[in-house]
Amino acid sequence: MKIVFATNNQNKVKEVQSLLPSHITILSLKDIGCEEDIPETQPTIEGNAIQKAQYVKEHYGYDCFADDTGLEVHALNGEPGVFSARYAGSQRNADDNMNKLLHNLEDKEDRSAHFKTVVALILNGEQHTFTGICEGTIIKKKKGDKGFGYDPIFMANGFSETFSQISLAEKNRVGHRGKAVQKLIDFLNTKK
Ligand code: IMP
Repeated sequence: MKIVFATNNQNKVKEVQSLLPSHITILSLKDIGCEEDIPETQPTIEGNAIQKAQYVKEHYGYDCFADDTGLEVHALNGEPGVFSARYAGSQRNADDNMNKLLHNLEDKEDRSAHFKTVVALILNGEQHTFTGICEGTIIKKKKGDKGFGYDPIFMANGFSETFSQISLAEKNRVGHRGKAVQKLIDFLNTKK
């Protein structure tokens, strides 16, 4: 069985492949000759994940899964959410995005937030979604130099360090993406 992971990140492909039985082969977008930007124009994280997976199925014919992630801050009614990558503008700059978020939270007491990843899978004509949530807090100043995006200002519940300070293995264990991908893998492992 061949399934496309709608990503250009070869590390993500390898990681998922290593967790699956050998009769399931994961292909990247490069492997299927897809070099175009896949549209992500939906108003929700779930919608974008489904849109990407459906696009690959429709245009390339392969069964496919795609992920989409956003940070939802409770005191800001779920912002930046689906706009996480471009919260401070089309330059998609992580520092600008964090600065805007810290500014918008200045007068808020509730600094709780969560990351949400949705993985959408199109397999044998059916659509499935798998969601991973990681609850935590937005701290007041950036800390750490690992990771990406909002990692320097996000501290998962139960931790005293940000996602930028803990190891990648630890982040994968408790993180949103790791949880959603694990649900996908558990599902695929039931397929013959
Ligand atoms: P994507 O759907 O994985 O491309 O994520 C969209 C945006 O959410 C990214 O550009 C980041 O700003 C943010 N983001 C996603 N995952 C993470 C994470 O694990 N840590 C910090 N920020 C993230």
